[in-house]
Amino acid sequence: MPELPEVEVVRAGLEPAITGATIESVEVFDERSLRRHTGPSEDFIDRMTGAVFGTPQRRGKFLWIPLTDQMQDSTDDIPAIAGDSALGSPTSPAFGRSAGEALVVHLGMSGQVLLREPGSVDNLTRIRFDITHPVIGRRRINFVDQRIFGSMAIDELVPVTDAGANFGETVPTQVSHIARDPLDPHFDEKLFRTRLAKKNTGIKRALLDQGLISGIGNIYADEALWRAKLHYETPTATLSPARVKLLIAEVRAVMLQALAEGGTSFDEQYKNVNGTSGYFERSLQAYGQQGKPCPRCGRLIVREQFMNRGSHFCPFCQRMPKVAL
Ligand SMILES: [Zn+2]
Repeated sequence: MPELPEVEVVRAGLEPAITGATIESVEVFDERSLRRHTGPSEDFIDRMTGAVFGTPQRRGKFLWIPLTDQMQDSTDDIPAIAGDSALGSPTSPAFGRSAGEALVVHLGMSGQVLLREPGSVDNLTRIRFDITHPVIGRRRINFVDQRIFGSMAIDELVPVTDAGANFGETVPTQVSHIARDPLDPHFDEKLFRTRLAKKNTGIKRALLDQGLISGIGNIYADEALWRAKLHYETPTATLSPARVKLLIAEVRAVMLQALAEGGTSFDEQYKNVNGTSGYFERSLQAYGQQGKPCPRCGRLIVREQFMNRGSHFCPFCQRMPKVAL
């Protein structure tokens, strides 16, 4: 299942080829891939056709592409900030107009956004866009999804209202309940520590809570906890601010390493926009390593049942604390 680094690899791969591109035509081959879109496929096709893609954005594992109208001069407000926000003011974003719309891409378990030459065909394509970029010309986007847990939808953009919000920053309504992720420059670490201390739960469960911190799934939770030498059930209330700081640093480090290595293709489903896999799974030290020696101490990594999945950890390096850390 794609986590933050995999989704960021897709976002970064799309950015140069689709930012400022006009959508010439849209084909929907499977209506199930639009189940998060409110409206029939004809509505989706009508609204997407002729629109211009802004810069792809991401929060946690959510990816979206702001849409601008072909008729307006879109060259000034394509970068970074979505929609009409460049025209807005702090008191009335975009002068009271809608902050715009975006195409929200849910990769689900197996969704792939493949950037192809015109006319290219991929098996299991559910939705297709033919686009023209002002510099690089015509391209095709095939949204391929084997298991159809992924989807696309047009969603309204709403202003971000937290303390760290950039001027004019917006997110789709479907993403507005998701906390900032640890690679977001406006991620508020102090606020995270405060909220974590009030949680009466285990640390791994807290790391997977997308309302508290986003973008961390099972793979990167296990890897970061191994690096920070923390047992997955360590009560959050027992963690000192210093330990939390260290843990977040390890979360960032493991995600940045995964990004540099093109993401993880552990379940054989995930691909980048060129259809190739990342190789971070070769660098995994705990996740999926049960029965193999811990790279730090040589004792065997074990796997325990956790939330219908598994937790992978070293029982020696990652012991449950007897006292507060
Ligand atoms: Zn160990």
